[in-house]
Amino acid sequence: MHYWEMPEQADALAEKALSFLREHKIPATPQNFELWFMYATGQNAELVRTLDTAVTNGKAADVHFAREIHAHFFTHAQSAAIDQLGGKLQDEVKRLALILESAGQDTSAYSETLTKVADELSDGDVTQNLKTIVDGVAAATRAMETRTKKLENQLEASAGEVTTLRERMETVRQESLLDALTGLSNRRAFDLRMSEAIAQAASEGGDLCVLMGDIDHFKKFNDTWGHATGDQVLRLVAQCFKSNVKGRDTAARFGGEEFVVILPDTSLGNARRVAEQIRKAVESKKIVKRSTGESLGSITLSIGIAQYIRGEPAADSINRADTCLYAAKHAGRNCVRCEKDLGTVEAPAAATA
Ligand code: GH3
Ligand code: MG
Ligand code: MG
Repeated sequence: MHYWEMPEQADALAEKALSFLREHKIPATPQNFELWFMYATGQNAELVRTLDTAVTNGKAADVHFAREIHAHFFTHAQSAAIDQLGGKLQDEVKRLALILESAGQDTSAYSETLTKVADELSDGDVTQNLKTIVDGVAAATRAMETRTKKLENQLEASAGEVTTLRERMETVRQESLLDALTGLSNRRAFDLRMSEAIAQAASEGGDLCVLMGDIDHFKKFNDTWGHATGDQVLRLVAQCFKSNVKGRDTAARFGGEEFVVILPDTSLGNARRVAEQIRKAVESKKIVKRSTGESLGSITLSIGIAQYIRGEPAADSINRADTCLYAAKHAGRNCVRCEKDLGTVEAPAAATA
């Protein structure tokens, strides 16, 4: 039991959570309450840091931000699904163990019968009851055959059940790596792939680049056309990312209206080409409101590119991509910037643009 599950503590923390919500003018939805209750416990330093930054940036009351942060820190649904499948798998293994145990008992009973017959046969004159003995052995063998057949069926059913459960667990695992709105890899998947790409760059050599894209003036788009249409645009932009990366590249939704791409074994020059392709793909889309067919014009994307420097933590290259993205916004948006363009940041020696 966590200390905050004790009634007095829980009451005090709930009061605290509510006062945070009031102070920052955040609606007291169950999702926000859960976030700020955990904040009040101080148990999760990353959550505390994230919410503090959100308050500073004026994002704490943003409904999309809350949804995203909640999904990041509270993955109840998925872990419950995994727990449930894990429990079923355990039950199936127990059932299998029981089947095998009873099969073992059947085999020893059969073996005892045969030993008894052998003893009777070696006991001198058997001519009198030979027929009874042979009938007994035949009956025991038939019974054993029936049991073996039943055992085979049980084992087959159990193996099938285990396979189904394993497949379901794999589906849940895959889903836990996808962004629900766009179907792209989510932040968790991005973190995993980035670690893999860094390890691979260290062992195999080769350049590794990271792109960070952010939709321009998306707040205005949402405010003008509504969030549901905004969500459709996020799907459309995600599609532009998906169709312009290939092979070992990973495109992911980093959060909100920000997207990232990991480009293993890719020079800065090629990363810039990919970024331009994505930027142009987004720019070329004509946005049409589905319900009315009304044309909503087009949207644009700014992109920053960083080249990974061997030995640095993943966060450093992501921050540098973010700095370049900021430079792209500053340069008027709808453009691509890398560190070389900034002038202030030294590009890694191996970079060839
Ligand atoms: P900039 O060009 O500087 O990036 O301006 P911006 O308006 O795009 O940036 P800002 O950070 O001010 O606003 C981002 C907006 O993205 C605000 C938020 O409502 C919207 N947003 C974030 N996540 C989602 C989402 O899941 N769906 C929708 N529809 N909008 C979202
Ligand atoms: Mg943004
Ligand atoms: Mg934006």
